[in-house]
Amino acid sequence: MTRGLVYAEPGVAPQLEEILLEDPGPNEVRVRVEACGVCHTDLHVIESGGWHMRFPILLGHEAAGVVEAVGEAVTHVAPGDNVVIAWHVPCGECRNCVRGDARRCANYLRGARRMRRVVDGAQLSPVLRTGGFADALVVHAACAVKLPAELPFEQACLLACGFSTGAGAALWSTPVQPGSSVAVIGCGGVGLAVIQGARLAGAERIVGVDTVTERLELALELGATEAVEAGAEVREIDFAFSAIGAPAGLVDAVRMLAYGGTACLVGVPPSGRTLDLDVEMDLFAKHATIAVTHGGDIVPQQDLPFLANAALEGKLDLQRFVTSTISLEDVPDALDALHTPTGVRTVALL
Ligand SMILES: [Zn+2]
Ligand SMILES: [Zn+2]
Repeated sequence: MTRGLVYAEPGVAPQLEEILLEDPGPNEVRVRVEACGVCHTDLHVIESGGWHMRFPILLGHEAAGVVEAVGEAVTHVAPGDNVVIAWHVPCGECRNCVRGDARRCANYLRGARRMRRVVDGAQLSPVLRTGGFADALVVHAACAVKLPAELPFEQACLLACGFSTGAGAALWSTPVQPGSSVAVIGCGGVGLAVIQGARLAGAERIVGVDTVTERLELALELGATEAVEAGAEVREIDFAFSAIGAPAGLVDAVRMLAYGGTACLVGVPPSGRTLDLDVEMDLFAKHATIAVTHGGDIVPQQDLPFLANAALEGKLDLQRFVTSTISLEDVPDALDALHTPTGVRTVALL
């Protein structure tokens, strides 16, 4: 029996139920899931009443596992390969892809809907085109990225979303140059991954900013050279990342910048908010740039093996990001626990 965590309709708590998988079609693969991280986006899907997706919804989007079967024309992975399932896969056809900027693809690839509920046969909509809280999945083959078998699944799955969002912001969205000064506002899981990415990029000064002492300590352990309470004055920063949703974080980031600096919004902001900036003094006089990242703007087939190898070489500390492991049955409680986060990442092991 193949189980999946299904959010069947608005207002009904997600439940584990039996699902059916069709065989993978051309350019699709079937993957047995071994691990899936518990990310805020799934909580957002539930709390926003489906996040504009069609019901019923298959939750999860931070999965790693083993390829079980491949459809026609799939050559880059084979049954038995360890893979991470990326949700941010450039289409190759939109204006940005065609002009050579796949990191800003506006139109991510998706496979056909191959997963159904057993109870009524309804097609499931997987979160971010992937799903993940299920024993097995069928996804577009380009989403399946082969990783070294030495990387444990509980670490590999983090590369699907949270970790690569943060590290990718510092490595690829607004590439930090060696010797730069960096500030990271918000040292939760994504902010800590920004710190790891900035360290890998060779930043000289990395300032972690948060309100929680425990997180500031983690920031120092993971590569920050300074840790300061939110509100403390920070200046002369080349790259300032706001890893909190609130727009005030981005305003703070801009005000920290040195001449010519870049501020980058990493978190998903609430809707309908504006920025309170002095356009002359905060932006023009400082020659400031404001950027955003969508999931680290990764090109998965090249970037995720790079991050995996950096972890295996000890240049990234993925293990430190896994603070607890749970079973698939415990995922609904773990999603609820995201309201009062204690660790960095909870990972479901299947
Ligand atoms: Zn594209
Ligand atoms: Zn996520």
